[in-house]
Amino acid sequence: MNRRAFLKSANFAGLAMALPATTFASEEKRAVPASVSSNPKTILLKDYRPRSLYKVLVTHIDKAKFPIIDMHSHPYPKTDGEITTWLKNMDECNVEKTMILTMTTGKEFDDIYVKYSKYPERFEVWCGLDLSGHGKPGFPDGAVKELERCREKGAKGIGEIHDKGQGLRSGKSTAPGIHPDDARVDAIWEKAAELRMPVSLHVADPIWMYQPMDKHNDGLMNAYEWRLDNQPNIVKLPGMIDILERTAARHRKTTFVACHFANLDYDLAHLGEVFERNPNLYADISARYAETAPIPRFAAQFYEKYSHRLVYGTDMGFEKEMYRITFRILESQDEHFYEIEQFGYHWPLYGLGLGDEVLGRVYRENAAKLLAARVG
Ligand SMILES: [Zn+2]
Repeated sequence: MNRRAFLKSANFAGLAMALPATTFASEEKRAVPASVSSNPKTILLKDYRPRSLYKVLVTHIDKAKFPIIDMHSHPYPKTDGEITTWLKNMDECNVEKTMILTMTTGKEFDDIYVKYSKYPERFEVWCGLDLSGHGKPGFPDGAVKELERCREKGAKGIGEIHDKGQGLRSGKSTAPGIHPDDARVDAIWEKAAELRMPVSLHVADPIWMYQPMDKHNDGLMNAYEWRLDNQPNIVKLPGMIDILERTAARHRKTTFVACHFANLDYDLAHLGEVFERNPNLYADISARYAETAPIPRFAAQFYEKYSHRLVYGTDMGFEKEMYRITFRILESQDEHFYEIEQFGYHWPLYGLGLGDEVLGRVYRENAAKLLAARVG
């Protein structure tokens, strides 16, 4: 059974039970792909689809325990009908509002804005940056001007802005060699503070992507798909974290939301130190569920300690099943389950079993505070 088919049947089973439903059963019963050899000497890691045989708790959570503000999503739907489906999925999963990080400016931004601004209670549309003038003397005047125009149009934040080590990127617009702490972009972040627009900033990528793609790489299959080890002349992960810190320190009035735990999911203690030093920095937890679920006790302690600095995010489409995997990881205490098709890693996952207070903050309260700070 492929992932979709499995999830459908899992949903069906979930509907029949009280919510959240807990059963004692062995893990999912996915069929092994036909291409997989039955000879362990020739099975490839990319085809490895282990099934847990443990008779342990399996929790189905259809609806998040508290209402959610999703701080990291993108305009995935291609039609108005798909937007309606998304809204229905949000209702069923208890997602109150979603930030649409468009990464665009100009007409592209305006077109997306028209589609989502029909639902002001459910979506916020954030703009990108026009970095096209980066080689010219007047930079970043044009970028600042376009930012003001987008704000006027209705953009309430900026994102997602990337720097994976080669310089700033906003969708298709790039500024090679200019990192966010560069004096040449000071005026952009200062304008963001003046306009009270938070900045969703993605620096680096998970640690496994920088390692050699060999037998020692713990996250091999997903790392290979997003590999950075073969990129010459990039600022590596620790260097990017320093850049993030310098950016936050240079612009204390600007609120930065570092995407994906600032890619310090492998070293949460370091992220804690970064938080301590930078009061204007938050982190979203989007698309790093698989990287934190293998260390449930340490991750849960981190959530507890920094529950006021973390915000929920997805970054993984708009299917109900996608939301529900995040609920299972954050809320349940399930052990040793797999979500290989969703996340790409071969390793088993564990529920963090976060308490109500932490869940309430991460799901909604922190984001609500951050967004409310823009008014007045
Ligand atoms: Zn994203």
